[in-house]
Amino acid sequence: MSARRIAASVLLLATLTGCSESVRAPAAAPRPAERPVAGAAGLGDPVVPGDGNGGYDVQHYDLDLRVTPRGRPSLAATATITADATQALSRFDLDLTGLTVSKVTVDGAPAAYSRVPDKLVVTPARPIARGRFTVAVVYSGTPAAVDDRQLGRYGWIRTGDGTFVGAEPDAAHTWFPGNDHPQDKATFGFRVTVPKGLTAVANGQLTGTAASGRTTTYTWRARDPMATYLAMVDVGRFKVRSGRTPGGIPIYVAVDPAVDPAGLNSFYDTTAKVTDAWAKLFGPYPFESTGGVVDDAPVQFALETQTKPEYVASMAAVPTVIAHELSHQWFGDSVSVHQWGDIWLNEGFATYAEWLWGEREGSGDTPQREFDGRYAQQHSADLWNIAPAAPGRSALFGRSVYERGAMTLQALRRKVGDQHFFAILRAWVAEHRYGDATTPQFVALAQRISGMDLRHLFQVWLYDRGRPVNW
Ligand SMILES: [Zn+2]
Repeated sequence: MSARRIAASVLLLATLTGCSESVRAPAAAPRPAERPVAGAAGLGDPVVPGDGNGGYDVQHYDLDLRVTPRGRPSLAATATITADATQALSRFDLDLTGLTVSKVTVDGAPAAYSRVPDKLVVTPARPIARGRFTVAVVYSGTPAAVDDRQLGRYGWIRTGDGTFVGAEPDAAHTWFPGNDHPQDKATFGFRVTVPKGLTAVANGQLTGTAASGRTTTYTWRARDPMATYLAMVDVGRFKVRSGRTPGGIPIYVAVDPAVDPAGLNSFYDTTAKVTDAWAKLFGPYPFESTGGVVDDAPVQFALETQTKPEYVASMAAVPTVIAHELSHQWFGDSVSVHQWGDIWLNEGFATYAEWLWGEREGSGDTPQREFDGRYAQQHSADLWNIAPAAPGRSALFGRSVYERGAMTLQALRRKVGDQHFFAILRAWVAEHRYGDATTPQFVALAQRISGMDLRHLFQVWLYDRGRPVNW
């Protein structure tokens, strides 16, 4: 996410919050006749308390969505979720806020369900054995955007001609039920029916378009594992261009002509150029396609939605923002945070990618000058009073996570040298591809590849409050 315009006000409210270990329920030992118990409610991530659930691991979401942007309700849907039970389950929770559920089935049989805040509690007619099961939820309503005092406005956002979905960190469950935490990735299929004349854009590749009377149905398939917050459906009037990058990666971009009438080709070209450049530097592009969406959404951020980052027009016009969001395809999307407190692993790296792009294109300083300029800000509370590896919810998108996070990488690069530094980045994305990872894992990798003791460097740059004086 690029969110610098809201960062300053966010940081005034900043407090330091500790980041506790995950309390994901451990899998029980296999037994011949396992007693079914309820899946855990919540994964114990303090930044998104209550989010995520234990007892199962989602493999695939199939979202059949009828979106009528100006209708009430604006969404009528069936979510069919294929999951593996990691224990025998008497019941389990799905994250879901708002909306009206009209039917739930488990393996085709009607299931009992109830609502508690932010959860749909499902009790199947018969306990679920370990292994594969399917739950289908029929629901409708108008998803409510999240207005967060600290994080601003995000989620399901109404635009002038449709809807825009930017859900980081925790708004996916305002528009579909699921296991809403980056620890549980899955593949996605989207079947989106919209009024004739509108286009529906989702993650992955377009596999079908079918007109029927007054509606059109767009079918998208995202075949690579994806965190729930990176799922998107943008509906509106769009100019579309698709093809392949010079490096051979399929690309699809959609631009709302109302906000950026001339921008389609330059946006397409920059997206293609950045994708190919990062694939050379960071390792093979992790997904089946690249691209992006430029929309007229009333939000203050760009977001790295998988395969197709989303931008407002003012941000799409800045190549370093495109460089930032596309670097997230490696750092954040393919390799995701294990806990939200690890978010410098996304934003510090993406900010560093902005510095690399600025240097490469001659539009910015060298990374060392970017570092020096910030290090000279001796009294910046934004940078020095918040530790990048423990920002808490209030400073999740603040300067420390982004800029001190990037400074940490520059400090590392100076310490270990260019060859080791870029080898560390490439090993990071290769070893944790499609998974999630923690800050201690990054520290261990950097030490392994460089052969150096880097504990002090990471301690003062990531974990300690205050401006590092030596490392
Ligand atoms: Zn970002």
